Amino acid sequence: MSISQNLATILQQIQSVTEKANRQPNSVKLLAVSKTKPVEDIQQAIDAGHRAFGENYVQEGVEKIQHFAGNSQLEWHFIGPLQSNKTRLVAENFAWIQTVDRLKIAQRLNDQRPENLPELNVLIQINISDEESKSGIAPNEMLELAREISLLPRLKLRGLMAIPKPESEPEQQRIALQKMEELFKQLQAEFSDIDTLSMGMSDDMQSAIECGSTMVRIGTAIFGSRA
Ligand SMILES: *Cc1c(COP(=O)(O)O)cnc(C)c1O
Repeated sequence: MSISQNLATILQQIQSVTEKANRQPNSVKLLAVSKTKPVEDIQQAIDAGHRAFGENYVQEGVEKIQHFAGNSQLEWHFIGPLQSNKTRLVAENFAWIQTVDRLKIAQRLNDQRPENLPELNVLIQINISDEESKSGIAPNEMLELAREISLLPRLKLRGLMAIPKPESEPEQQRIALQKMEELFKQLQAEFSDIDTLSMGMSDDMQSAIECGSTMVRIGTAIFGSRA
């Protein structure tokens, strides 16, 4: 299957699951995760009409952003773990960061966001399955970090992101996803402008949409498996 066919299939699936879940049409956005894939693959997705891409590695992401700098319609999301010595590259190049999990990183991104760019869109990453190896904050730390981020003028807090522990059964998948949905509602109750709940990958997309995801991050099902 070609990348453009894969994209069409995924968009169709998103639409039909959204409809079945009685959610508004177009309420779930597709982020194409292009990590490790060459610019030729991204070009194919662009030619098929896609605009939003997610990258995990700072250097690789910045090289791709620079390669496509002539296309101002593209929207680049940083979705990998971020060390504080790499914040400047993210602040200067990306439109979104989905993995903020501590104030120090947020402050650096705020200070380094160039004046000529719009505010950097931020999602707080939640370690929803409480995995030791995973980034993200504990659910009970969410509101405090959100309050601190909301005071930083060059950042725009948009919502939450999670990478739940992989589960094959939808029932099992939904446990963590429903917790995220609850947290998202709590956040929305305190802050206006919270509109993004980023969850759902190739293997749990359907469950994630049923649990209120507004952005699914799909790599393998679009670009094929990674080396
Ligand atoms: C790699 C990755 C994805 C995409 O995963 P697939 O299983 O290939 O769809 C989504 N989100 C994050 C944070 C990732 O690192």
